[in-house]
Amino acid sequence: MTTWVIPPHAAASLAVQDSQARFPIHRIFCVGRNYAEHAVEMGHSGREAPFFFTKPAHAAFELTEEHVAAWPYPSSTADVHHEVELVVALGAGGSNLSLEQAESAIWGFAVGIDMTRRDLQADAKKQGRPWDVAKGFDAAAPIGPLYPKAMLPSYVQGSIRFFVNDELRQQGDLSQMIWPVVDTIAYLSTLYQLQAGDLIMTGTPAGVGSVQKGDLLRAEIAGFKPVQCRVSD
Ligand code: MN
Repeated sequence: MTTWVIPPHAAASLAVQDSQARFPIHRIFCVGRNYAEHAVEMGHSGREAPFFFTKPAHAAFELTEEHVAAWPYPSSTADVHHEVELVVALGAGGSNLSLEQAESAIWGFAVGIDMTRRDLQADAKKQGRPWDVAKGFDAAAPIGPLYPKAMLPSYVQGSIRFFVNDELRQQGDLSQMIWPVVDTIAYLSTLYQLQAGDLIMTGTPAGVGSVQKGDLLRAEIAGFKPVQCRVSD
């Protein structure tokens, strides 16, 4: 039996819709710019290879459909941006997956927000430094309950929207992804040996912007109940 010199962390995990069982999080991968409309406004055309960054598993912050969670405004920033994203959860892994294998590796989906310290990210970009402090801070990944894939009518099309204090800020459709879910999983599996428990945040549509303390945030994707949180101290 293993003994530990300090207590090991419990697994980071997500609630599962209509179940008492929970989903253990192994890693959180995130796709950079992945919506056509956003790519076009950034002056890009055609299909470039996707790029990835990560957040720690324990950066996951649980959102529920029943309660408005208090999401803690992070330290050392004056410009926190919301990015609403479809989150994919893997129930199987592997390397160099075919599209068919990638599809069968999907366990389910959730609604998530890729919270970003945009000021620190801009500074990192300017200086050629990594994005970790901009993307991987505590509670940087608010995520709602996980829906088994059979519960979701579609993950290739459907409305994705984000509201701040009931004002529509982001609006897009899952069909606008430059790298659709299955293609993203297959591509990521050329870079990592994917594992059951890995999450992938699949990128955000246009309309990202700042949140302030006191704001009520609501994320919606077709097929899911909306999830909300309030930005707090
Ligand atoms: Mn993002």
